[in-house]
This record gives sequence, C-alpha cells and structure tokens, in this order.
Amino acid sequence: MKNTSFEKTLSKSNLDWALIQLELKNKLGTDIYDSWIRKINLVEEFNNYILLSVPTRFIRDWITSRYLDQILQTLKKHKSEIIRIEFKIVEITEQKSINQKKTPDSVKVSFIKDSNVQYNRIDPNKRFENFLVGSSNKIAFEASKKVTENISYYNPLYIYGGVGLGKTHLLNSIGHEMNKNNKVMFISAERFMYQFVKSIKLNDMVKFKEYFRNTDVLLIDDIQFMNGKEAMQEEFFHTFNALFDKGSRIVVSADRPPNKLARIQERIKSRFSGGLVVDIQKPEYALRKKIIDHKTNELISLHSDKLNVSEEIQNFISSTITTNIRELVGAINRVVSFSRIYNKLPSLPETKVILKDLLNLRENNVSIDLIQTIVCKFFKISKNEMLSSRRSRYLVRPRQTAIYLTKTLTSKSLPEIGRDFSNRDHTTIIHSVKTIEELKNKDLEMNENINKLKNIILYNKENEI
Ligand code: ADP
Ligand code: MG
Repeated sequence: MKNTSFEKTLSKSNLDWALIQLELKNKLGTDIYDSWIRKINLVEEFNNYILLSVPTRFIRDWITSRYLDQILQTLKKHKSEIIRIEFKIVEITEQKSINQKKTPDSVKVSFIKDSNVQYNRIDPNKRFENFLVGSSNKIAFEASKKVTENISYYNPLYIYGGVGLGKTHLLNSIGHEMNKNNKVMFISAERFMYQFVKSIKLNDMVKFKEYFRNTDVLLIDDIQFMNGKEAMQEEFFHTFNALFDKGSRIVVSADRPPNKLARIQERIKSRFSGGLVVDIQKPEYALRKKIIDHKTNELISLHSDKLNVSEEIQNFISSTITTNIRELVGAINRVVSFSRIYNKLPSLPETKVILKDLLNLRENNVSIDLIQTIVCKFFKISKNEMLSSRRSRYLVRPRQTAIYLTKTLTSKSLPEIGRDFSNRDHTTIIHSVKTIEELKNKDLEMNENINKLKNIILYNKENEI
C-alpha cells in the first residue's frame, strides 16, 4: 500500500478516529462496539476514501456486511469527501504496534473534543449488582463496597490490575452508589490532566481547584497515565491532600501497584501506599464460567432468543480466553450475534473463526506428533502401542482419541492423518472420529478428557498431566 501515488493523494486533514469510534459506540451500543468496532484501526486517510485495518477476515466481512453504512455516515459527518472505506487485514501482533502508534494522538484529540460528553459520566450499567465475584476479584470488590458504607477504615483505596479486569467497573459502581448522597467526581487521570491544562490556558485555576476540592468522593481511573506530567502532579498532590484532610473518600485505579508507577512523584506514590492497596487478578476458571453463563443468559433474555450457547462452546471460550474479562464478554457477544443472524449456533470450528483474533491458539503449531505424545502420556501407553495394529481396548480408545484430536485441531486431510497413524485407511479415520464424537455426547468422563486434552495441547500444558 505504501506506493508514492497513494502518498501524493494523502489528505492534509486528520480524522479523529477515536472520536468517530465513540460516536459509533453511542449509535450502535456497547455490545456491538466491544465486539467489533473497537477492533478497527485507522491506517491512512486519503482524499476521498479511508483505509482501516481489522485483525481478521471474518471481522472485516462481518463489519462490511452490517455496519459499513453507519461507519460511512459517521465518517462523512467529519469529512464529507469520503465516499468509500477500504479494509486491510492486520494480524494481531502488527495490530498492537499500530495501536501503540495511533493511540496517544487520537486519544488526546478525542477527549478535548468530547470532554463535555464523557466528563464525569457515571455509567448506570456498571454497578455492584452486576459485578460477578470470584476469588480473583473478591478483595477488590469488598474493599470497594466498604468505601460506599462510609466507614473510614482506609483512605485512599488503590485498586490495580491488568486491562479488562473490572477496575473501571468497580470505580463506576462506587460512584453510582454514592452519587445519591454525596458529591462524586469520577474522572480518568487523562481527563484530569486535560481539565488542568485547559484551566491554565483559560486562566481559570481558581475554578479548577474549587471544582475538584469540593467533592466528597474522588474517583480517579488509570492513574498510570499521569506519569511525567510534573505540573499536573503538583496540582494533583495538593488536591489529594486537601481532600484527604477534609475526610473525602479517594479511590484510585491503575494497571500496576503504586511502587511500580513510572515517573510519578515519590510523595504521591507513598500517599497511595498509605491507604489500602488491593489487586484484581486474572479471572480463575470458575469466574470465567460464571461470567459466560451470566452474560449468555442476559443476552438471550434481552433479545428473547430461543437459541442457547452450547455447553461445548461455553467451555471452549472459558478455557481459551483466560486473561481479560472484556474479551470474554466480547466473545460471547459475537457468538450470540452470529446465532441471531444465521439462526443457528456456530459450530466449534466456526467459533474459532469468529473469535480468531481473541484466541491465542497454537493451531498452526499443533503437530500430529505433539498430539500423539500428549495423548499417550495422558492414557499412559507408549507411542509404539498407539501406532501398532493391536486392538486391545486399552489401546483403541486412546488411538481413536488421538485421531479425533488430530482431525479437530489440525487442518490435515483424512488420508494424511491415516498416513501418520501407521498407514491406516481413511475410512478407519472417519470411523474413529465418529466414535469419539458419539462417545463424547454420551459419556461425561470422555467429554471431560477430551476438553482437558485440547487444553493441554493448545496451551502447551504438558506438565499438567
Ligand atoms: P478495566 O478498567 O480493568 O480495564 P473494565 O472495568 O472496563 O476493565 O471491564 C471490562 C469489561 O468487563 C466491562 O464491560 C465490565 O463491565 C466487564 N467486567 C469486568 N469485570 C467484571 C465482573 N467481575 N463481572 C461482570 N462484568 C465484568
Ligand atoms: Mg478501565
């Protein structure tokens, strides 16, 4: 795409993609936004068209067939010359670096423009009641609830954890709860900074100070973004102290513990450490299941769908998306959108296509050899036994299982699989796959073993056998 004739037609003006995404979010709703729109990046802007990137072909096709009109309409509001949109597939690893390049600029521009829209806005959909609790987030949840009970055991409360684990949800829940009887200020560190800069420019610092120092509850999200902004930190420190002294509650979230915050004044860090510091960990299996279950029911009742998401797919999602609740919820949204549109549930292979960008599957690296090794170890037989022609029962099941897993986890053809299992005929391969499929539906233990094996193979967890 980088040829010079293209470059010449590059237009001067700069579309604010983050703002456009935000408008689309308002138009299409958070479900659609989280599942599809947030995946789109702006690559380049030309005179009369724009080049966007998405992580998979499936997402491109989905977006093109359903949301293209709305995206184009929204774009046209910002730049009427645009008459078409082109997509480019940028795989996840590349996508990340694009994100890193684009985000600082676009975020900055967007919150200047939309500051009034988003500023101090508490989302009524993120409450304690719909925050699902498990061992990984229990402490953060309970500490947050305590804040609302107004018993000043600790102040500030500092919640940290990776992306998509529920920090904003908790801060929002506190805000939602306390808003009834208190003056609440819920703001991201970025926005705090923006307000600060704006007030300096407008010579309005008195108002700024008043504004922030007047609150009973100050909730600051993503404090790590405050790094390095000396003047703002200075102001924040004074705000913090003023609030602290008058007994206001302060809750801070970050992606890391206070002592790991980079380029933030020591005295601020030590203020944070002086309260209660709690973390949210990656969701454990039980919590992932709970979230999937809950979210599926919610979506189904919301749209009064008859389709339910099968146990197999629920299990698949909860065992493959393990580090991010936002992506977990996004995955279910996609599966439910798919079933609504095609009026059937996606099969497991279809689910993999739908969720490709969210899964970290080692699909291409799964070799027959790996499958055989792991299945042999699991059933405690030798590879020679597996590949022999002996038909003892204790060898037949493991052999069929390995064949079944090869068929489902690799893209090998039946004759190829036959060859790798000591030149068995492809009809034998078909028979094995069918047998296991049937058994899986009848026999709970078999079903569980297959799921375990898939997990071990896809995630290189050989040492768990
Ligand atoms: P973070 O701020 O840590 O990046 P968010 O609070 O934005 O994460 O959470 C990401 C998404 O996942 C949100 O839609 C949120 O409502 C949802 N979510 C996170 N944790 C939970 C939970 N425990 N129960 C229900 N939904 C959750
Ligand atoms: Mg957040």
